[in-house]
Amino acid sequence: MGYLMMNNKVKKVTGFVKVITKDEVQKMRLKGKPLCPNCSIPLTFVYEGSTGFSGEKCQRCKQTFLVDTETLQVMTIKAS
Ligand SMILES: [Zn+2]
Repeated sequence: MGYLMMNNKVKKVTGFVKVITKDEVQKMRLKGKPLCPNCSIPLTFVYEGSTGFSGEKCQRCKQTFLVDTETLQVMTIKAS
């Protein structure tokens, strides 16, 4: 059981949280760690097979970025 927020609605999802071991994580191939443009600390860990975009908030400066998990490019978001 776990919770997932989609379209700003919280849904209860059966089997949503899966537990894996550290060994299993170490076997996954790390594609890279996109770094915060302000702080040079990792925004997230991206593993092989990832595609699409992910919103990531920097733990240090609290700014939110979009990460292209295909190319590992970091995008800053500015007001239009
Ligand atoms: Zn930062």
